[in-house]
Amino acid sequence: MPAPDGRFAPSPTGTLHLGNLRTALLAWLFARSADARFLVRMEDLDTGRVRERFYDEQLRDLAAIGLDWDGPVVCQSERLALYADAVDRLRADGLVYECWCTRAEIREAASAPHGDLPEGAYPGTCLRLTAAERAEREASGRPPALRVRAGAETVAFEDRLAGAVTGVVDDFVVRRNDGAYAYNLAVVVDDAEQGIGEVVRGADLLDSTPRQLWLGARLGLAAPRHAHVPLMLGPDGTRLAKRHGAVTLADRGALGESPDDVRAYLAASVGLAEPTERVSAADLVERFSEDLLAAPAKAA
Ligand SMILES: [Zn+2]
Repeated sequence: MPAPDGRFAPSPTGTLHLGNLRTALLAWLFARSADARFLVRMEDLDTGRVRERFYDEQLRDLAAIGLDWDGPVVCQSERLALYADAVDRLRADGLVYECWCTRAEIREAASAPHGDLPEGAYPGTCLRLTAAERAEREASGRPPALRVRAGAETVAFEDRLAGAVTGVVDDFVVRRNDGAYAYNLAVVVDDAEQGIGEVVRGADLLDSTPRQLWLGARLGLAAPRHAHVPLMLGPDGTRLAKRHGAVTLADRGALGESPDDVRAYLAASVGLAEPTERVSAADLVERFSEDLLAAPAKAA
């Protein structure tokens, strides 16, 4: 059986920082060390935050540290018909409902305990509207978001790095009230449609995975394997961010570091190289083993 294809799916909303680049490098290593295909997809549905210049810049930075990919880079903004079709199928199965709640209403409702649902989860307010309440909201002219009807179902899966994971699925949004398809919907549709067999991404997305597996199963899609890699941390122990200083390839270049230096630094931060060693991307493919990530070294 061929190895499952992998991918990296950035949002063109800013310059990739070292944490993003390390996640990309690891996703690439998972795929290339197994002789699998590696795809890049631009997650550009949040049109308010997307900036044209970051598409090319992000691809340039990935290539600069030695990553390559198969086939054309696809953009979610060009795949709206696929997401619309998925929503139609969910609707036909009675699995979505309209939600008119404002952010403030959701915050207030979610702060009360609701059985098995995780803290902050949407408690299903709009699923229980009376006919009069519903008519009032429909007449308001405020466009509704669409939520799935998940009924607090529990989903369990085995993450290649995090181990056994269990999550309760809340009634999450699949189409926002501004009409934009939600990340959780698009990612599931795209990974299946592109034949992605293994999703390697940052550990910050581990909590979203039960939702995505639930949705994929409802849409009759094959579930990919998952490996959630550790996030890169700043010197203060919090997730690496712009405020930590020189965190982009350009920033590091200004300090005299080449993309090869940055790749070596990223590799050393996960135990794939000695801190002062210079290694090619091909060397890393030879060395890579997911076991190395089981006890990740701290970012320098
Ligand atoms: Zn609602």
